[in-house]
Amino acid sequence: MTELNGKKLKGSESFKELRKINFMNNDKYKNVYFRYNKKDYLEYAESFDYSNDIKEGKIKGFENDLDFKKSMKKWKIDQFRDFYGFTHKNRVTGQERDYRNYACLDCLEVLRPDFISSKDKYYCVNCL
Ligand SMILES: [Zn+2]
Repeated sequence: MTELNGKKLKGSESFKELRKINFMNNDKYKNVYFRYNKKDYLEYAESFDYSNDIKEGKIKGFENDLDFKKSMKKWKIDQFRDFYGFTHKNRVTGQERDYRNYACLDCLEVLRPDFISSKDKYYCVNCL
């Protein structure tokens, strides 16, 4: 589920919004949307204390916050994307978005079946 100005968007609405963005200059929106890498997610995680989630059993298999964050360091990028539910942040609005299966995670061009890289379904043929 994606959001725009606090409003929840259905899949088709997200597509419409993305198409609008794609009309913009590519460099311009690459500057607006920031893609999280592993280091960025780890920094993001630092601002949270997961002690209660661990105590309440929402996060299972860890002793405490420190234990959980230690294991995060070994996570693959997709584990962070699944856990936090976003891939990018809009630098202007601060809004976080999950562009997986909607757009190439590098250039944010809307993905079409003939345009998806066979090596990685999250990137277009031009980017991977
Ligand atoms: Zn691309």
